[in-house]
Amino acid sequence: WTRGNQTDADNSLTELAALAETAGALVLEGLTQRRSKPDPATYVGKGKAAELRDIVEATGADTVICDGELTPGQLRQLEDVVKVKVVDRTALILDIFAQHASSSEGKAQVELAQLNYLLPRLRGWGDSLSRQAGGSGGGGAGGGVGLRGPGETKIETDRRRINDKMAKLRRQLAHMRTARDVKKDVRRTREVPSVAIAGYTNAGKSSLLNRLTGAGVLVENALFATLDPTVRQARTPDGRGFTLSDTVGFVRHLPHQLVEAFRSTLEEVADSDLILHVVDGSHPDPESQISAVREVFAEIEAVDVPELIVVNKVDAADPDTLKTLRTRYPDLVEVSARTGEGVPELVTALAEALPELAKEVHALVPYSRGDLVAKVHEEGRILSEEHTGEGT
Ligand code: GDP
Repeated sequence: WTRGNQTDADNSLTELAALAETAGALVLEGLTQRRSKPDPATYVGKGKAAELRDIVEATGADTVICDGELTPGQLRQLEDVVKVKVVDRTALILDIFAQHASSSEGKAQVELAQLNYLLPRLRGWGDSLSRQAGGSGGGGAGGGVGLRGPGETKIETDRRRINDKMAKLRRQLAHMRTARDVKKDVRRTREVPSVAIAGYTNAGKSSLLNRLTGAGVLVENALFATLDPTVRQARTPDGRGFTLSDTVGFVRHLPHQLVEAFRSTLEEVADSDLILHVVDGSHPDPESQISAVREVFAEIEAVDVPELIVVNKVDAADPDTLKTLRTRYPDLVEVSARTGEGVPELVTALAEALPELAKEVHALVPYSRGDLVAKVHEEGRILSEEHTGEGT
């Protein structure tokens, strides 16, 4: 179902497909319906729902993802028609946030949003609940037997458990907020600078990360790659170590109840030493995306972090758009993660923009973490203890 014109709908659906792929899905087919408002029963109309069921049967799809927020009732009724799991935009985005949340605050924030989403949908989700809600509860998260109070139905029990869990998460989050500022000071003095790749979903952030760390452009440290799939250890051609992290992508129409979770997963951007702001140069209006992203940088207090604008997909970009961008952002770097064009220039710009901090430490302390990383690469040995020890 779509509110806007066909182009809006197409863009939104393309983004949804990209999000679904980010979440690990294989997208088989897209379907839009133009209506003045969603069908109260099945979100898309009755006829469309039947069409959807036929597509599901023909393709063997196991999930239907809707570009919007469905009421718990719509979700259930559409599932009854298509006979496979139905996921809405909110649930999909939550899934991606969960993959990207790396700090304990980010994780707690995402879990809170997930439970909040789950609560009114309990009936529809039925048995999967004990698995969902018990996830990080630390053992004993199995069935509800024994936990059930007298006269309480399964749903009431589940609801109570979720409410308890949410209250606990809120308390934890309040504590974490106070601890955060202290931690920030510690991070500021760390030896290995961090570079955060940020930008819209589909701008090509992960393609660029792979391009930069693959094929020896910036050496990747396998040790760190296993710790967190979104963080890579790299070093500049002149040997300065830094971390390169892929952050959760910006999305259009972020459901409002996800804003907090989004911000906390983006926290690493505010804590980084340099932002590679990746922009999709082939997008019809990259400037609007840049301003939207910068607005959020301001909200998460990342405005002090130096920013390098990287216009990606130059192989597919409109020359006039590129020209306008160059005038507006004279320091931008143009690349194509696909063809590799501009990547050497990006590496140079990145090395220049990396904070001086790295150089100073390099000169003053011969065995800083950055040097150790370089050493590991040279000697091909694993010095795991040095790498996991944070407190120097
Ligand atoms: P992310 O969501 O920002 O991580 O974006 P991805 O790296 O997943 O890329 C999104 C889409 O853009 C994928 O279909 C990529 O193949 C495509 N893409 C990425 N970089 C380029 C590029 O330089 N040129 C072109 N034409 N497409 C690209």
